Amino acid sequence: MPDDPFSAFQAFKASLDAIKLTLEALRLGKDMLPDSDEKTKAEEALVLAYTSAEQATSLLAVQLEFKLCKCEFPGTPMTFVRHDPTTGQEIVKCPKCDTEYPPELEPIPPPMSGPTWRT
Ligand SMILES: [Zn+2]
Repeated sequence: MPDDPFSAFQAFKASLDAIKLTLEALRLGKDMLPDSDEKTKAEEALVLAYTSAEQATSLLAVQLEFKLCKCEFPGTPMTFVRHDPTTGQEIVKCPKCDTEYPPELEPIPPPMSGPTWRT
């Protein structure tokens, strides 16, 4: 294992990406199989394997202190897009649903005024 833990995380992420690509290739290949019990079992196994790879990716992101978007389970790592020009705070965005964090501040509504009476 490399001395730099971030390099280890990068290697792990690259491995997860390779696994996901392999699973996608298998998913495309299983569509060429005739309908059968084996095909159904292969589909179920691929779904479980892909879900596990996604969970591992989320766990890795948490270890690297990425914020997770909750639009999907197990959570999508949000990536840096810019710094807030006023506060300098880091703004991150979900690559799946485009949600930004922190959310943009809503304009403050004007204070409610009482009823106006016509005279
Ligand atoms: Zn999202």
